[in-house]
Amino acid sequence: MLVVGAGAAGMAAAKGASEKGAHVLLVDNEEWIGGILQQCIHNGFGVHRYKKELTGPEFAAELKSEIPSDVEVKTGTFAHEIVPNEKRAILVSREGIEEVSYESLVYATGARERTFQSLMVPGTRPAGIYTAGQAQRLINIEGYLPGKRALVLGSGDVGLIMARRMYLEGMEVVGVVERLPYPGGLRRNVKQCLEDFDIPLYLSHTVIRVEGYPRLEKVIVAKVDGNFRPIPGTEREFHVDTLVVSVGLIPVKKLVADFVKVRSGVLVSSSGQTSVDSIFAAGNVTTIFDLVDYVAKEGEKAGRSAALLAKGEFRGERLPIRKGKGVKILHPEWYDPSVPLSVYLRVEKPMEKALIRVGKYEIEAEDLTPAEMVNVDVEPPCESEVSVSVTEV
Ligand SMILES: Cc1cc2nc3c(=O)[nH]c(=O)nc-3n(C[C@H](O)[C@H](O)[C@H](O)COP(=O)(O)OP(=O)(O)OC[C@H]3O[C@@H](n4cnc5c(N)ncnc54)[C@H](O)[C@@H]3O)c2cc1C
Repeated sequence: MLVVGAGAAGMAAAKGASEKGAHVLLVDNEEWIGGILQQCIHNGFGVHRYKKELTGPEFAAELKSEIPSDVEVKTGTFAHEIVPNEKRAILVSREGIEEVSYESLVYATGARERTFQSLMVPGTRPAGIYTAGQAQRLINIEGYLPGKRALVLGSGDVGLIMARRMYLEGMEVVGVVERLPYPGGLRRNVKQCLEDFDIPLYLSHTVIRVEGYPRLEKVIVAKVDGNFRPIPGTEREFHVDTLVVSVGLIPVKKLVADFVKVRSGVLVSSSGQTSVDSIFAAGNVTTIFDLVDYVAKEGEKAGRSAALLAKGEFRGERLPIRKGKGVKILHPEWYDPSVPLSVYLRVEKPMEKALIRVGKYEIEAEDLTPAEMVNVDVEPPCESEVSVSVTEV
């Protein structure tokens, strides 16, 4: 069995598959395993899985220690092509180009960051504009500061965490700009990353222009209306040499997008199976998860299912899950009655008290916001179609 990508999802998939008796080859493009976790040195990882607050590298080390020793791990190895009807993949590494056959495959390639260029902000094209992941890697892995005075665009968890990280490393952080009227990240991160350090958050604002060359000198920000259009007369200037852009993650689905069903991510059933029987997927390549605990849980499940399929012991049903009222994002796409159903959703708008319906089950919930993914685990509903909705009560 082949697992492509050795972040949290891939490592957990390798563990799950090996425990079900599969011979597993786990490959990753980087020189290490652990994926994005290795550059996330803040804590807040593993609260559900390990019942303690770990840093990213600590979580990766715990998960790595769970991988049975018979799993073959190849780092510095890039999966270049997957040929689904012949069940083979082409891998490229220092050793050369290698072709491997598989009975089943778990695709766990994570997500990449949306770039500043994709936002179409006019102005010069200076040095000093980084994605949050680039700035995080510079500081936490390479040991360099990206600049002296920074503004952050985007208040998702990654942006919030980077605002604090730059502040703690001695940079001046003049603010975080967010076009939505509410923060994009978890509430605990707004408190712990911004409020605790007096870093201002500018909601309903966006960057409309950058100036300076060859290095960034100025960022012009304006208030936006309900359609995210800048409101004339509300402009303000920030004199900064660094702009950190954290405006979303995009699942890395390129290698399979021609033959499995995809939307923004790779579509899977509740057992991790894609629309192609022998190909499974898990982690951020399927949907953007808030918590690595969920990623590991889904990875392990996909690995187990893929191993059983390779042994001819897995049927893999894909019954529809319908997105009902109040739900903005819903995962997975289908449910497989042979495994308990874990549903992940984001609500359309903030709700103080709500009733979540998953098929015949009703669950009361409080304090829901679109920024926070909700996880509901239920026994297999035994219905031919499940609908998921959230109603404010
Ligand atoms: C800044 C930041 C802060 C976070 N904070 C928290 C937190 O506090 N708590 C929490 O629980 N979660 C947090 N998360 C979320 C969590 O870290 C991620 O959801 C999780 O680690 C994603 O795991 P993954 O395996 O899906 O992807 P990744 O970790 O991205 O792993 C994907 C791997 O696939 C490899 N790959 C890609 N393409 C190929 C290819 N073609 N061939 C070979 N290898 C390939 C990549 O090199 C990478 O190693 C945070 C995430 C970020 C970015």
